[in-house]
Amino acid sequence: MLTASTACPGLFYNISAQDGILSRVRIPGGILDNEQCQFIANIADNCGGGYVDVTNRANLQIREIKTGINIEILQRLQELGLGSANPTVDHIRNIMTSPTAGIDPQELIDTQPFVKAWDDYITEHPHLAGLSAKFSVGFDGGGKVSVQNCVNDITFAAISENGNVYFQLYLSFGEKGKAPKNTGILLKPDECLPVLAVLADVYLDHIGVTSQRKRRLREVINDLGVENYLCLAFQPLVPNYFSQLPAQTDMITVPADSIGIHPQKQAGLFYIGVVLPLGRLETWQMRRLADLAAKYGNGNLRLTPWQNLLVTDIPKKQVAEVETEITSLGLNISPTNIKTSLVACSGKRGCAASATETKDHALELADYLENHITLEHPINIHFSGCVKSCAQHQQADITLLGVRIQSENETMEGYQLYIGDGKLQKFGYQLYEFVTFAELPKIIAKMLCVYKNQRLNLNESFREFVYRYDTFQLQRLFTVKSIPKLKSNV
Ligand code: SF4
Repeated sequence: MLTASTACPGLFYNISAQDGILSRVRIPGGILDNEQCQFIANIADNCGGGYVDVTNRANLQIREIKTGINIEILQRLQELGLGSANPTVDHIRNIMTSPTAGIDPQELIDTQPFVKAWDDYITEHPHLAGLSAKFSVGFDGGGKVSVQNCVNDITFAAISENGNVYFQLYLSFGEKGKAPKNTGILLKPDECLPVLAVLADVYLDHIGVTSQRKRRLREVINDLGVENYLCLAFQPLVPNYFSQLPAQTDMITVPADSIGIHPQKQAGLFYIGVVLPLGRLETWQMRRLADLAAKYGNGNLRLTPWQNLLVTDIPKKQVAEVETEITSLGLNISPTNIKTSLVACSGKRGCAASATETKDHALELADYLENHITLEHPINIHFSGCVKSCAQHQQADITLLGVRIQSENETMEGYQLYIGDGKLQKFGYQLYEFVTFAELPKIIAKMLCVYKNQRLNLNESFREFVYRYDTFQLQRLFTVKSIPKLKSNV
């Protein structure tokens, strides 16, 4: 086992949490075959808590490991292609691509070969071990299940120009947590890898590769200026390669086409997007899904950056049968299910900074809402245990931020409640300064009822509804209790 130089877990860089050791298995492209699924399920049963969590980079986490994963198991994982052949680079973030790469009927190009090429390049170039564990790269093929606006340091997004496919280069800079911005640079597909290599090298030249806390690419670009960073990277390649920076939107939500039944570009075949509540999959569910994929599809499961998964290559006449089998596993495939767009950070069991048990609260809230309200549109509800906001409030319709307050003689745990996304204020508009979890389900159910009763029409989303009102009107519409006076945050 290597010594971790990063706060991010890896297969060879485990970190400890309150509930045991946490190990992350990096899944390039998010695709798992039957043998890989069965092996990981065995590890989770024998060494961990009997479940796996899909992360927002389509990795898998095994939690509650008591004594570590032994060397034979690590070697077997490497043989199965689930651990980097070079352990010194295994900590680097998973390479993101659309989970429908290669099957998306609207995609311009299959991005799976680009993921493999960059993964191989990292493995073969040990100096890249100096990259921050958070150095993140995404490839978007221009299909309907897009990862273009997912948070990555560097994104290559396919477009069509005059009948040819190019990749636009997007970079993350400016404010933390925003979608990457279009640099205006167009690349031919075969230029992506060399450009990526030089972008990584320029980044390495501007950080202390041996320092404990490595600066993010966003911070380096903010210091250098985006044009200087690009000049340093592109001058060796082609001078004056870039033009004006186009505007960019920041809407990042679960794509509707990543959940439910959808046709593939391969005639007669369908994929089915399955909702995993907060990304969790019990090992018995994982084995059954892997067997189901082998029986009806091509044997693969595809993990998504929205912490769900796809079963692919299902012949049309067997789609209904597969849906029934998925439902029998206690899972569902509805895009408007409240759990589809539910996000929670690790919470108290997984992170010492957390004020609240975010995951348990999120699931309890979702169960309550499922029994009290039917949605026609997904609503993004995000729980973070502290202001670091790992649950990515920028993408939320409703944000719950865990806090502790000192009230008379006791410390109370609860949430600040915000609506709307970062366009309103940092976390959205604050409706409540403090609510206990016991009060939360009724408050949110009422908010959703107000929205359903007063929206302009069935097509108006929660976010569009919120944007029609000013802050005073929102408070009058949505609040159902008086805000307690805070003594102090703890
Ligand atoms: S948001 Fe805060 S509490 Fe939650 S995982 Fe991140 S650092 Fe920990």
